[in-house]
Amino acid sequence: MFTYMKQSHTRIMNTLGRLFAIWVLFLVACSPNQPPTPTAAAAPQSTASIEPLPSPATVSAQNARAKYVFLFIGDGMGYAQIQLADMYKQSTAVSSSRASLSFSQFPTQGRVTTRSANSAVTDSAAAGTALATGRKTDNGVLGKDPTLKRNFESVSAAAERAGMKIGIISSVSINHATPAAFYAHQGSRNSYYSIALQLGTSRFDYFGGGGFNQPRGTTKTQKSAYDVAVEHGYTHISDIATFRALKPSDKKIFATYPNLLNAGEMPWSIDQPQMQPSLADFTAKGIDLLKNREHGFFMMVEGGKIDWSCHDNDAATTIHEVLAFDAAVRRALSFYESHKDDTLIVVTADHETGGLSMGNNTLPMTLQIDVLQYQRCSLATLEGKIQQALQQKASFDTVLGLIAENTGLGDEQKRLPLTDTELALLKQAYTAASSPNPEYGQTDIALPEKKKRRGMNLSTLAIDILNQKAGINWGTLMHSGIDVPVFAIGIGADQFQGPLDNTDIPKQLSRIMGLSQ
Ligand SMILES: [Zn+2]
Repeated sequence: MFTYMKQSHTRIMNTLGRLFAIWVLFLVACSPNQPPTPTAAAAPQSTASIEPLPSPATVSAQNARAKYVFLFIGDGMGYAQIQLADMYKQSTAVSSSRASLSFSQFPTQGRVTTRSANSAVTDSAAAGTALATGRKTDNGVLGKDPTLKRNFESVSAAAERAGMKIGIISSVSINHATPAAFYAHQGSRNSYYSIALQLGTSRFDYFGGGGFNQPRGTTKTQKSAYDVAVEHGYTHISDIATFRALKPSDKKIFATYPNLLNAGEMPWSIDQPQMQPSLADFTAKGIDLLKNREHGFFMMVEGGKIDWSCHDNDAATTIHEVLAFDAAVRRALSFYESHKDDTLIVVTADHETGGLSMGNNTLPMTLQIDVLQYQRCSLATLEGKIQQALQQKASFDTVLGLIAENTGLGDEQKRLPLTDTELALLKQAYTAASSPNPEYGQTDIALPEKKKRRGMNLSTLAIDILNQKAGINWGTLMHSGIDVPVFAIGIGADQFQGPLDNTDIPKQLSRIMGLSQ
């Protein structure tokens, strides 16, 4: 009892400390709305020469060429995130079939090291550059060497030069680090406007999913990057009817989700299970638009919000992002079924996020992943709902009811009873959130921001407690350095087994597409 109380006191301090850490760390890493992280000054673009992909170390016995190639990147999706979603799918009737995730059953599986040129723990820009160009660079850099003097050619640009059609799809903004690594060259991943302008000059055929973050620059006064893309021959589509009506003869399509969120990203799948178009729909549309072209296509599809939900340490939201990613892979798989002789599908990750562990001290030696089905919305949405209730001066019981409704917490039937300690923690967070707190007396923080921070305590705490009751734990709010998996099926798949480095993946892809020897 004492140790538990001591633990709970530590946990309060950890949670408050962690909340502040969330804001600081997340601000630094993957969240887009921040002034550019001070990486080396962006070198002028045009002068740097483009360096082609290096050749792979090993070649396959098969010398069949793949005409249709898919590279799926689950951002932040480590082994644990895949197993979590797999176990969830099998322990809950979320979908008619309780089968596993599609790609976890692929015949060829390997392990990929992810370190960047300057860190054992990579960010998405350096990892994206490695997965796109076959070369290492520093965290924060896109498509360039660490000195920023040399541009690295991506496998997508090389494929385009060879006459293949190129599709780039993501659930986060299309000028975010991972998709950008396949068409842009920038000293900083935070130069969102400059990256957006490079989409227009990419000569690629299809962009789908998220829109631009900062389409008019940080000052919001620049010429719209959407207009620039249109001037370069793209048709920008942002309504479902026109999207559905697209046909194979339509060229240079930039299709974005109709109601994008703040940073140009798609909504959370858990918040909008019936979202239209989904990541899978954007993938299927890409196949429709590019499949009848003479030289085939290369398509990169990113499940970008897996990373964001892992930064939130929000397991249920992560599961739904992985399931949405799997649904996109299934669209490629159904294409593969009728194109087995010339199609390759590769599924991997750029790094793991959150240090997710399938085991914790609260529920030692067991897991009950299925209780995560009682979470009805993302952390961000839960925080919004709690904020709203607090502004209406809701009582603790009302807030507790809101948490119960959206997480199942407190419901014995759902095996989610709240202990006295957990109740005390929530009460404390409620008290802190709904009453003026000297700690926030500082005049330099705007009131809405102060309120928001306080309110989130409750939401973060609730998600934490639920995660603990599922038996899982998170080791960090940032990325980890653990290896990630790669799965492959189709032509040349055998090249993706055993230990690999992330730079090996585009080298093998380019060879299997016949772009390099
Ligand atoms: Zn991240």
